[in-house]
Amino acid sequence: MKIAIYPGSFDPITKGHLDVLETGAEIFDKVIIAVAKNSEKLGFLTIDERVELIRKSCVHLNNVEVDSFDGLTIDYAAQKGATVLLRGLRAVSDFEYEMQLSQNNSALNHNIKTVFLITKPIYNFISSSSVREILLNGGDITQFVPDAVKDYLVKKYS
Ligand code: ADP
Repeated sequence: MKIAIYPGSFDPITKGHLDVLETGAEIFDKVIIAVAKNSEKLGFLTIDERVELIRKSCVHLNNVEVDSFDGLTIDYAAQKGATVLLRGLRAVSDFEYEMQLSQNNSALNHNIKTVFLITKPIYNFISSSSVREILLNGGDITQFVPDAVKDYLVKKYS
């Protein structure tokens, strides 16, 4: 059974993240999408809110699990029996950071490989930070996030 971990901040989950997740779920037997409790990043939403919004956005994917974790991604992956880390690539700007991250992870545990997926072009420009910016300035986030995320955020911040 091939298990992949899709780690990230997902603050909040966007249609770009969901597209990567859906493709991952087609390729691997099981995908665990896991919110990293990153000590360096001050969150916009709480970890519980992010997990709940991911859950609501992927009810149609029956081989996907939602979780959160502390500590090193590679240790969490090993603990879950995963052999793959799933990451998304948008533009060249993502590449340098993602390459460094995957090589660090590979140096720590070479049994776990990073697989990069590219989204459909219509989702390529979407980021959680631009969603937050648009939301907090009263813009329409419909095209950027799953419906459940939009409903929750608009209710909370209107
Ligand atoms: P992190 O803080 O770990 O970068 P993010 O939630 O920002 O967490 O992103 C998680 C992963 O999803 C990263 O690999 C990122 O490049 C990817 N990603 C984010 N938005 C998109 C998108 N629109 N299309 C493809 N991949 C994306």
